[in-house]
Amino acid sequence: MTETSALVLFSGGQDSTVCLAWALERYDRVETIGYAYGQRHEIELTQRPSIRTALVGMRPSWQERLGEDHVLELGTLGQISETSLTRDVAFEMTAAGLPNTFVPGRNLLFFTYAAALAYRRGIRTLIGGMCETDFSGYPDCRNATLQTLGKALALGMDAPFAIETPLMWIDKAGTWELAHKLGGGALVQLIVEATHTCYLGDRETQYAWGIGCGTCPACDLRAKGWEEWHKGQT
Ligand code: ZN
Repeated sequence: MTETSALVLFSGGQDSTVCLAWALERYDRVETIGYAYGQRHEIELTQRPSIRTALVGMRPSWQERLGEDHVLELGTLGQISETSLTRDVAFEMTAAGLPNTFVPGRNLLFFTYAAALAYRRGIRTLIGGMCETDFSGYPDCRNATLQTLGKALALGMDAPFAIETPLMWIDKAGTWELAHKLGGGALVQLIVEATHTCYLGDRETQYAWGIGCGTCPACDLRAKGWEEWHKGQT
């Protein structure tokens, strides 16, 4: 039997933590990759090691499967994009109808770097938490974009690369539900306490759904999903 392996784009946020649990359930060997690009919510990067440790403490099989973590510096991304994720400017919609948190083509770069690293590590499956349902229309989160990118990577590296996006068609309530299915109350609790989603990097204010400012678009989405998921449970 050949060993299956995957590289998970792991930012330390809610979505990528659920993706990591999903991958640990399915692949024999799972590695993680994160990027430092001067994001305002860089706090999420500092949460990564403790989330990895807590996750594998939940199941012995996950412990056996989790491999190395990689962090790449992508400071150039901060240089070429002037958005509210990397600069101290207010959140607003741009003329193109996109929130100004949009870093143009960010996920294309993330997956391309991930593929280059995965190539050398003998990994051919890349996993990311992008979602077409919730992500404010970011064009680099769309299924068509990522499936096409997967094909381009496979051609460009002459290797059978595939991109998997387990959250593509579910909303934030569905993401909480998937977390519960994968790791029960313990995983839901870990996500509430340790994962960071807030664009402003607020780690002070505690809500039922997690820690954050409570008003930025990311907090808003996470809070609404939590409420919906709870309604569905009762
Ligand atoms: Zn926030």
